[in-house]
Amino acid sequence: NKNMDYNTPDWNKMNDGLVPAIIQDARTKNVLMLGYMNAEALSKTTESGKVTFFSRSKNRLWTKGEESGNFLNLVSIKNDCDDDSLLISVNPVGPTCHKGTDTCWAEYNNSNFGFFSELENTIEERRTTADDSQSYVASLFKKGINKIAQKVGEEAVETVIEAMDTNDELFLYESADLLFHYLMLLQAKGFTLKDIEAELMKRKK
Ligand code: AMP
Ligand code: ZN
Ligand code: ZN
Ligand code: ZN
Repeated sequence: NKNMDYNTPDWNKMNDGLVPAIIQDARTKNVLMLGYMNAEALSKTTESGKVTFFSRSKNRLWTKGEESGNFLNLVSIKNDCDDDSLLISVNPVGPTCHKGTDTCWAEYNNSNFGFFSELENTIEERRTTADDSQSYVASLFKKGINKIAQKVGEEAVETVIEAMDTNDELFLYESADLLFHYLMLLQAKGFTLKDIEAELMKRKK
């Protein structure tokens, strides 16, 4: 199996015989978590197909998901350039972090939607930390969800008007306004683009 064709870690380089293993979602490419493996954990991972670490706090082999059921199903293992770390690609079952988020870096590296994901993170940051006299986003959130919904309505109408006209530049401008305010509304309701993706995927025939 080519995906399991990796160099054995150079164990002499490791502190306490543990190799850092970076766990990556095979589909989204998000970094999910970091763990450490000894030789036994690594062979258990390849044999069982479920990522198994050596837990320093438990001081024993730890198959991620053993209590929660949130296993990391093995897809591939790659050594790095100098054989002192591993990149392990997985299909995660449920959220990987024990705090309930997909990744151990909360939602801050969900780049499934590229720039739109960045925008979601920026909106969240403004909403939670920005001064509402300095930030348009913060000020709109302060006015409340009805005001945000109303703005989405206005931008939708402006987009429709421009769609019926012939000025492409204005159509794009209003479309961007609409999408931006819609991202704010989604967040105000406690959702993300991922939820919309899931909803649309349910309808796929
Ligand atoms: P699990 O392996 O998912 O059944 O979780 C068992 C225990 O391992 C949890 O109660 C946490 O203490 C710990 N744990 C689980 N997932 C993580 C993680 N992503 N990072 C650090 N510790 C974790
Ligand atoms: Zn290295
Ligand atoms: Zn975590
Ligand atoms: Zn507008």
